[in-house]
Amino acid sequence: MEYKELGESKIKVSQIALGCEGLIDKSQDEVVEFIEQAQKWGINFIDLYSPHPVMRRYLGQAIKNRHEWIIESHLCSVWENDQYLRTRDIKKVKRGFEDTLEQLQTDYVDIGMIHYVDAMKDYEDVFYGEIIEFVKELKEQGKIKLIGMSSHNPEVALKAVKTGLVDVLLFSINPCYDMLPPSEDVDDLFEKDSYKNPLQNIDPIRQKLYEYCEANHISITVMKAFGGGDLLDEKLSPFQVKMTVPQCIHYCLTRPGVVSVMAGAHSIEEMRLSVSYYDVTPQERDYAEILANVPYHSFVGHCVYCGHCAPCSQKIDIASVNKFLDLCIAQGKVIETAREHYQSLEHYASECIECGACMKNCPFGVDVISKMKQAVHIFGK
Ligand code: SF4
Ligand code: SF4
Repeated sequence: MEYKELGESKIKVSQIALGCEGLIDKSQDEVVEFIEQAQKWGINFIDLYSPHPVMRRYLGQAIKNRHEWIIESHLCSVWENDQYLRTRDIKKVKRGFEDTLEQLQTDYVDIGMIHYVDAMKDYEDVFYGEIIEFVKELKEQGKIKLIGMSSHNPEVALKAVKTGLVDVLLFSINPCYDMLPPSEDVDDLFEKDSYKNPLQNIDPIRQKLYEYCEANHISITVMKAFGGGDLLDEKLSPFQVKMTVPQCIHYCLTRPGVVSVMAGAHSIEEMRLSVSYYDVTPQERDYAEILANVPYHSFVGHCVYCGHCAPCSQKIDIASVNKFLDLCIAQGKVIETAREHYQSLEHYASECIECGACMKNCPFGVDVISKMKQAVHIFGK
């Protein structure tokens, strides 16, 4: 397992984390077994979007050493009349948070995640009203360590992260959703018709969101990495090709700003499939050929950081150089973290001998030699 720090905090989270949907309706013994197995595989991070009280109570009992787990718990997601309710009613939000602490038998959660903000009007109500004041209070009191927000809409998410208040963004990412323009209706992501028109490359607002997060130390945690399972089935996938679990995870982890994939698992076997990401070969993770050959859609001319062009004859990590370069271009200045990361590379763009081998391997037609020249211009070596 590999770990990343959340934003500027020193909190380290596993790159593969648990979604909670698989825990709902499990017995206490099953939840304990699940959590113990997750820990054996090095998972230390869990997303709790569901307010299901029994699941939360079992989970609280299963987590024996609180400090060993990082909990991303959703505010505004409450349990009412035996069902899940998204609410902006501040009284319900406050009571829901206290319930969470009680069920989990803890006095804090690591990330207080403002739940499901997809519409611009909702964003304004949340960020200019009682909810954000309550969340700030929780942070001051140490009841949450970091402020989070979950969204499926890149336009709203970008506005929210630009407030400077959000430390962690939970966002829906996979190569299909990444092609679609912003929408306030989450159902568009699942609608086959959304993918009918010719689509090209990652939507620029999504790309901008990821780059803004990377440049400003805002960590992205990923939901819907497998598109609710659709991407794993060629009949259901909007791309009409099947991806594997490691390929989906690798796609997410190679986006700028992403620290963890919240991988839903209904069984230990499904969880094993996600952690198998670390056992498979680089070729088995590689998603480049899939994306390059999806019917009707095309990723062309822009680096997707897949690493398919490796190995470079001069051992340059082309995907990383391109990522740091694009980050600076997008922000219109040299980003300090990008410069630091660039300097820590073993080989620099200046070592490129223009052999062209990478360009023959890149299925997206990226002009790597020009990118290396730009990187030398920006980073000085
Ligand atoms: S240059 Fe092409 S093959 Fe290499 S990382 Fe970028 S998109 Fe992938
Ligand atoms: S063209 Fe440059 S970056 Fe590409 S393989 Fe050759 S040396 Fe490496």
